[in-house]
Amino acid sequence: MLKVENVSKKYGDFQAVDNISFRIDKGEIFGIVGPNGAGKTSIIKMIVGLIEPSEGEIWISRYNIKTMSEEAKQLIGYLPEESPVYEDMTAIEYLDFFGEIYGVERRELKERVDAILNDLNLKHRNRKLGEMSKGMRRKVAIARSLINNPPVLVYDEPTSGLDPITSNYVMEYIRKLKGEKTILLTTHNLYQAEKICDRIMILKDGRVVAAGPVEEIKQRFGGVRYALWFRLNNISGIDLPVENRNGCRVAFSSNIENINALAREVSRRGGEILKIEHHTSNLEEVFLKMVK
Ligand code: ATP
Repeated sequence: MLKVENVSKKYGDFQAVDNISFRIDKGEIFGIVGPNGAGKTSIIKMIVGLIEPSEGEIWISRYNIKTMSEEAKQLIGYLPEESPVYEDMTAIEYLDFFGEIYGVERRELKERVDAILNDLNLKHRNRKLGEMSKGMRRKVAIARSLINNPPVLVYDEPTSGLDPITSNYVMEYIRKLKGEKTILLTTHNLYQAEKICDRIMILKDGRVVAAGPVEEIKQRFGGVRYALWFRLNNISGIDLPVENRNGCRVAFSSNIENINALAREVSRRGGEILKIEHHTSNLEEVFLKMVK
């Protein structure tokens, strides 16, 4: 449904995006994550036709964004990084305005606006955009991206600047749209990316450092760390790193064999095993490791 093929972007001599390829099918949420300046917004802007790739091709369904740009754009609901600046319009006026531009029939438009704003739990919909909070404006912008019922959603940091409750609400809303849409989003919130994205791409300096299903990336680049909690007076000769915590000792290893060997040694020396814990890396830990 959305295909990006060997796409690069240069601003003058500066290589902002370097040979990126991916494909997203209907029913999928694909997330692009990366530190500031990694190239996320540049990719989004190329997909929605705001800037041209220096190299490569982008397809929305069967339409090439370069040669069939109007047809391709009709299929996209775009949420830019910044929310709308039509300060004097109310949410309803703003959405009606865009609905008319898209040629949505009047009665259908009213029903659609009502349904979307209800789903998004947007109150004060007759308040002017300039008098709305950031969260409300973001919800209006999301509603706008859905007004012509596009099959492809391209969202640049949908939860940027939102409080945790609104942010979770918006992400949950996006997750519910997933079955009928093809969704691309960028985010700095790795906890949310882990929760709602089927696949992600980690970008750094315009290049892909890892891509694939979230679980696969965590397993491949993260891994498991075990911690053995025990009591033993003399730990001389023990190879693993040991810390003192709450009057106990804790040894760490990513290898369960090492932990088992240590447990046997502790018992042999007359010590006491308290517990073994294991910790699987979350996406944030993997991300930090990869982009450092
Ligand atoms: P952020 O997380 O901060 O939004 P990003 O991953 O979206 O960052 P981009 O906005 O795509 O990153 O920027 C990628 C790089 O390209 C940055 O170094 C940026 O300064 C540069 N860049 C972006 N737009 C332009 C432009 N119009 N002219 C020159 N350089 C640009």
